[in-house]
This record gives sequence, C-alpha cells and structure tokens, in this order.
Amino acid sequence: MASLTTFTDEARIALDTLAGRAAGLVSPSVRLGVTGLSRAGKTVFISALVHNLVHGGRLPLFEAQKSGRIARAFLEHQPDDAVPRFQYEDHIAALVDERIWPESTRAISELRLTIEFESASGWSRLFSRGRISLDIVDYPGEWLLDLPLLGKDYAEFSRDAFELADLPVRRELSADWRKLAAEINPDADADEMTARRLAEGFTAYLRACKTDSTALSTLPPGRFLMPGDLEGSPALTFAPLPGLGDKHARRGSLHAMMERRYEAYKTHVVKPFFHEHITRLDRQIVLIDAMQALNAGPAAVADLERALTEILACFRPGRGNFLTDLVSRRIDRILIAATKADHLHHESHDRLQAIVRRLTERAIARADFSGATVDVVAMAAVRATREGTVKQGREILPVIIGTPLAGETINGETFDGKTETAIFPGDLPEKPHMIFKGGEEPSKPDEQMIRFVRFRPPKLERTAEGITLSLPHIRLDRALQFLLGDYLA
Ligand code: GDP
Repeated sequence: MASLTTFTDEARIALDTLAGRAAGLVSPSVRLGVTGLSRAGKTVFISALVHNLVHGGRLPLFEAQKSGRIARAFLEHQPDDAVPRFQYEDHIAALVDERIWPESTRAISELRLTIEFESASGWSRLFSRGRISLDIVDYPGEWLLDLPLLGKDYAEFSRDAFELADLPVRRELSADWRKLAAEINPDADADEMTARRLAEGFTAYLRACKTDSTALSTLPPGRFLMPGDLEGSPALTFAPLPGLGDKHARRGSLHAMMERRYEAYKTHVVKPFFHEHITRLDRQIVLIDAMQALNAGPAAVADLERALTEILACFRPGRGNFLTDLVSRRIDRILIAATKADHLHHESHDRLQAIVRRLTERAIARADFSGATVDVVAMAAVRATREGTVKQGREILPVIIGTPLAGETINGETFDGKTETAIFPGDLPEKPHMIFKGGEEPSKPDEQMIRFVRFRPPKLERTAEGITLSLPHIRLDRALQFLLGDYLA
C-alpha cells in the first residue's frame, strides 16, 4: 500500500483548512459542492437553483422562502480567482430564451450567491439581518472517483482495472484494449508510441462504457473521460499493464514509465484537486442519473452503486486517512439526488426515491460510512413535462406531455423538436428490491422499464402582467431545505 500523503502535505491542508474557517468567520460563507458523473445534471441543477432563488420561484418546501424571510438573493464576484466562474447567464439564456439544454460541466467552476434574510428567531433578528454567501462549486464526479487511487500503487491499479474489465458487462467493451495489452511486454524498453496506443485503447474502452445503452459509472482515472485542461497532456498518457504481480519495474522499461506517470497523475492531478477544493466544502450534493442506469439494466445499476460507494467513501471519516478525515469533518450533510424525475409520472416519483434510498443504503453499508447526515431525493431541477391522462379503450392511462428533442424516437416515430407529445412513461416497480435482483448482465431493450426520450426545456409561463415565472421543477425546494435550511433558520 502506498502511503497516502506526506507529512508536509498534511500540514499544508490542515493550515489551509484552518485559514478557510477563520475567513468564514468574517463573512459567513457556505461552500456547497455539486458533483455527479457527466450528464447527471449538475449544470442544470445549479442554473435552476440560482434562478429560483434570484427570481423568488415557487419553493413551498424551502421554509425560508415560503415564509417570506428571504429579502434578496443576488450574484457576487466569486472569491477564488484561479477557478473559472460558472457561466450562469449563458446557461439561463440557453434554457429560457432558446429552450435548449446548456453546455454540460467539463471541469471545475464556481459561483457566489449571496442571500439576505430575516432570521426566524426574534432573538437573532434583534441584532441584524442575516446575510450568507453561498459558494457553489461544480466539479465532475469522475474526478472524485480518483480518490481511491491515492491508496493504490500502480500494480494494484493495474490489477483492479483488469479485474473490472473482465466483468461480463464490460468484457466485450474492453476486448480490443485487453487484446492490445496482452501483446505488450511490460519489461520491454519504454516507447512513447506504445504508451500512447495503450492509453488511447484504454480511454476508448472507458468511453464505450459510458454510452447510453451501457451507462456504466465506475471508470477511473477520472481525467481520461473528463480531462479538463489536461487534454492531450503526458500526465494522461498511461494505462494499466497486465500480469505485473509483485514484479519490480526495470529502469527504462515500459513498466517503469507507466508507473512513473501514474504516480505523477496522483501527485500533480489528484492530490491538488482534493487539497484545493474538496477539503473546503461544507455541504455536498451528489447527482445521479438513476433513470439512465435503470433503463440500461441491472448491470448499470450495480455499477452505479459501486460508484456511489466509492463517492461516499471519499467523505468517510476515520480510517487513519488524513485527507478524507479533513473532508468529512467539515461536510456535515450529503444529499444524493436522482435527477430528471420529470420523465416519470408523479406516481413513480416516490418509487424512484425509494430505489435511490435503497441504492444509497447499500452503498453506505458497503462503504462502511458514518459521519455526515445523508438524505436522498428524486427530483427534476428543471421540469420539462406536464402530466395528463389518455383514454385507451376503457382505461385511463397517466401520461407525461412535453416536446421531445429533435431526433428522439419512440416506436419508430422520429420527433422534430417542435411538437408536443404525450408519452406513456412506463412504471417503476413498487418494491425497490426488484431492481437489485439482477446480475451483471446488460438488459435487452424489451426489458426496459421506462420509456425514455429527452425533452426540450419547458416554455416558461408568464403572469398576466407579462412577468416570466422562474423555471419549474420537482422537489428542488426539498433539496434546498436539506442543504441550506438550517443556515437560514
Ligand atoms: P452535467 O454533465 O452533470 O453538467 O449535466 P447537465 O446538467 O448538462 O445535464 C445533462 C443533460 O441531462 C441535459 O442536457 C438534459 O438533457 C438532461 N437534464 C438534466 N437535468 C434535467 C432535468 O431536471 N430534467 C430533464 N428533463 N432533463 C434534465
């Protein structure tokens, strides 16, 4: 087992953390981490959250808003100059004016929203109006899934990668890369072209795992799929090698070169990311695309559970793990949110939530997690559909109505992106355990539970006075109450 951090690393993080906290006393700020694998819905979530707070959206389950105690919410300059700003205005313009989905998260970004509020207790109100700055930090979940690498040396990383690649659901997807790797002699002289071919083959396999029909989640190293500003960098030109066992790498060999790059990746990419960003978070929301996994079948659900287990392990205290210790001591609430619930009829929202709860409980048990309070919610940050019913013979069936994106198809019909359509979305099983009994085999199309098409963002309604209402959502207010309610009490 490679040692996790050196002493100087530890001392530095500790100091940073203390300094951060002291700064927090001067101007109260909360750092909310928003993560999730690519396409989980981070960009849409942050845009909708800010839009609803700034425009006083309908948030009946968010107590401070409901009771009219929020005086004003507005954007301010974000405090970290080295981090790109979350492009809120562009994203809202896309969603509201063009009715297209905004560009997804590709790297870390940040936004500061300041909220002025009246305290609920007369005692605090006596002193001053409350004011809190919410720093929202958006970052790819893929990067978080790199934390376990800090505890693995190159041989362990290689062994685990080949083991995972050999699971039934991945066997075919990884075949080309494994064939390529099998022809390589790790002890041969290091050669850049070989290293590149291996890294490309490995990345292509990870990418294939991510497609809609497979929808797998656990695919480290995170920067291979989400390189951020490291695109094409030598730090990413490595790959696992087969059959290393406990063999020592010969100097000048391919094995030695790959090992060195793997260690450089940990030192220069993974550790700084955790130091600079994750250790400073107070609250965390983890978005998951449970619908896509459910649609892809039991193997994808099992893989999502594996990813969730690893993510929760990142926030787990104790275990003599200094880095995670610091993270978890600070983060006291984690919300696991299944997004895009607007693809289901409301009768299924609770079922989706029950499935996510079950998934999370299993992940918590497997990660041996304790510490922060964890809650789950099934929500849609932006609700793109309405509900209705359709009469079929004597039966009245629940449907959802929306405008499918151009090019989406159902039963051979292709949509043009302009026409509203009613869709019978399918049902989730009443008992969540039905989801978990499958093995690691991918599902066949006729076994899919939900009829899944992507819809365009909704057309915003206007009041009689011509004021555009804020973005509609499902249970976004419940998420806000859990994440922020106590700060605004
Ligand atoms: P990111 O990669 O986590 O930033 O993901 P995005 O926020 O860009 O979301 C990816 C895609 O998921 C979007 O382009 C939408 O198609 C879809 N999506 C995300 N959130 C919602 C939602 O609340 N409702 C619906 N219907 N679709 C959503």
